[in-house]
Amino acid sequence: MTQAITDSRFFRQECYIGGDWRSGGETIDVVNPANGETIGTVPDFGRNEARNAIAAAAEAFPAWRARTAEERGKFCRAFYEALMDNQQILGEILTLEQGKPLAEAKGEIAYGAAFFKWFAEEAVRVYGDVIPSPWTDKRIVVTKEPVGVVCSITPWNFPTAMIARKAAAALAAGCPIIAKPASQTPYSALAMGVIAEDIGLPKGVFSVITGEAAPIGDEFCENPAVKKITFTGSTAVGEELASRAIKTMKRVSMELGGNAPLIIFDDADLDKAVEGAIACKYRNAGQTCVCANRILVQSGIYDAFAEAFAKRVSGLTVGDGLKDGVDQGPLIEEKAVQKVEDHIADALSKGAQTAAGGHRHQLGGTFFEPTVLTGVTPEMVIAKDETFGPVAPLFKFDTEEEAAHMANDTEYGLASYLYTNDLGRAWRMMEALEYGMVAINEGILSTPVAPFGGVKESGVGREGSKYGLEDYLNIKYALFGGL
Ligand code: ADP
Repeated sequence: MTQAITDSRFFRQECYIGGDWRSGGETIDVVNPANGETIGTVPDFGRNEARNAIAAAAEAFPAWRARTAEERGKFCRAFYEALMDNQQILGEILTLEQGKPLAEAKGEIAYGAAFFKWFAEEAVRVYGDVIPSPWTDKRIVVTKEPVGVVCSITPWNFPTAMIARKAAAALAAGCPIIAKPASQTPYSALAMGVIAEDIGLPKGVFSVITGEAAPIGDEFCENPAVKKITFTGSTAVGEELASRAIKTMKRVSMELGGNAPLIIFDDADLDKAVEGAIACKYRNAGQTCVCANRILVQSGIYDAFAEAFAKRVSGLTVGDGLKDGVDQGPLIEEKAVQKVEDHIADALSKGAQTAAGGHRHQLGGTFFEPTVLTGVTPEMVIAKDETFGPVAPLFKFDTEEEAAHMANDTEYGLASYLYTNDLGRAWRMMEALEYGMVAINEGILSTPVAPFGGVKESGVGREGSKYGLEDYLNIKYALFGGL
């Protein structure tokens, strides 16, 4: 199967820069996390190639912004169609390098594609404003303009969708974009380069560069031709990039870490809460920034939930994501497994118990058992740090106030979830939660039509929805005098 995937024309081992496929010099190995085997290599490009990509983007910018919104929308629509027409092979490439089950990978292709469709339609809705003038002989007009060259840095957990969320909005707004994917998962990004070429995007409007993160990031942050940095990844790297980008006053969008609470009240529908928690926690083996990191359960339903949830979790199938019937693939790398083990060991040493899993999976490598811990308390490391793995820690609370306090007791503020059948409580909690996103009686909330993003140290900016386009637009105020 691997051979068939790597023989595909979407599988490229070169970078797509300024409309050309480029290679040469050092390379980086890319490994299949399901078996540790090397899939291939990609160029280990650095500052020079990043500078070239930026120069090509800057050159492409005037003509790209000058196109009508409808024309740019058509390119976005074509990008959407191409992703969907090739969903199977793109999903296979994604699973091969990332590990998630193929059904999830194909779901990610569709999710990413949907951003191109959404922004194809939004491109034509970049409205300005006319403001009532305080002067009789002057008029005030507000227009919106593309910010200019955008550089994007994205992580390995959603190799296609994280780029799509940024690129679709940038292209629709009139900005060229350069994507730097994570070194673990470059092939999904390079496949998007193939699509950009296929649909005839002008040279330099969409480039993909692979290589060591730091030098490429340095060029992105320091090059004055770059007007915006859009990043998804860890809070530590995001804060570093933002602080450097601000030296030349670049716009920034930062989608950073989360420590999502999933709160289950006594009055919740138990079966729905269990299913929601499964989807929220074990999707992508727990490696998403919106995965429930803490499950807070009210005391009256705690034992019943723990039992039903642990039973369901024990039935999840772990394996190579390319095989049928797999619910959970491998973790991305050994370091990720060690973090999971550390979090579990710390919790157990402080009094938690294992209700399901708890160990490396018998398949070896980076496979880990879907795990449930009970009796978890706020003093444990797992309460503060994002585990980014298949471990669900169950905390106990008594009152609504206590739940809100526990949920907000973190520097993060990305996604939050709650299960209750009390409408008043749902509304009160929605207001009390210091999060950019709140899902009520649902375990999955991402969609291109809604604004994705966080508050506190989870970042700035929004992706998707009508708000997502604003992140790629500058406001211009024009005063027409002497009337
Ligand atoms: P994760 O834990 O998800 O890998 P990171 O923040 O380390 O989160 O990585 C997210 C993305 O940021 C990846 O593409 C990675 O290569 C990139 N990255 C990591 N360190 C830097 C850096 N110093 N400068 C620029 N990009 C970086």
